[in-house]
Amino acid sequence: MKYIDENSIDDLPGKQLSENEPFSFRCHSGLDCFNKCCRNLNLFLYPYDVIRLKNNLGISSDQFLEKYVDIVIRPDSYFPAVLLSMVENEEKTCPFLSQSGCSVYPDRSDSCRTFPLELGMLFDAETKKAKRIHFFRPPDFCLGQYEKQTLTTKTWAIDQESDIYNKMTARWADVKALFQTDPWGPHGPDGPKGKMAFMAAYNTDMFRDFVFNSSFLKRYKVKADIQKKIKSEDVELMKFGFSWIKLYLWGIKTKKIRLR
Ligand code: SF4
Ligand code: SF4
Repeated sequence: MKYIDENSIDDLPGKQLSENEPFSFRCHSGLDCFNKCCRNLNLFLYPYDVIRLKNNLGISSDQFLEKYVDIVIRPDSYFPAVLLSMVENEEKTCPFLSQSGCSVYPDRSDSCRTFPLELGMLFDAETKKAKRIHFFRPPDFCLGQYEKQTLTTKTWAIDQESDIYNKMTARWADVKALFQTDPWGPHGPDGPKGKMAFMAAYNTDMFRDFVFNSSFLKRYKVKADIQKKIKSEDVELMKFGFSWIKLYLWGIKTKKIRLR
């Protein structure tokens, strides 16, 4: 997910697609390029991706982040970006690539589902909302682009069962769009505020522990039904974390949480 300046869209590589614009693509194991695309990637992970992957692997979000990600600050956002670490072998393969293909296929990330499309976010400064735009950008070696099947961004999303991912990424994009200005002050994203906000977005298991085993609920008012949900449901906790980040860093009020 890239944040895009409206004036620079035409300079970007790949073709921008409108919602119903057709493109040709079919990926299948009979192609010589099969799994070639699962190597040497800048693969961005969003909070919902981490939940699905850590649950697929049966580990905590903390263990997942420790073992599988690189965290970087990019010029387009003050919030750190989370990238899947590639294996340190010659081909820099994805850690989830096995002999028979993707070992986490039912829970692969939004970017894996969207490929060979790439998602960009156009930020509307007036509404403070981010709008999704798609680019068709297969690498040269990807033979799927020469197959006959005709798709649109909509039919590709259905084929890849990415609807829920798209919704969750859009929610995150609305929060992340706020980070075009610096909320951290002199301590930067590595300071205490930055660590807390990162935990709320990406480290759901640790955030749950923080919410229920610190003075958090003495400082914030959270309705009993919401407390019940976030105690057991990772995705509800992630959404709650987004609301908390908005309040904690930007003073934006939502229905989920209030200061006491
Ligand atoms: S390179 Fe393209 S066609 Fe080949 S496996 Fe990857 S996505 Fe499919
Ligand atoms: S998660 Fe699966 S689909 Fe995505 S890059 Fe890794 S092996 Fe490929």
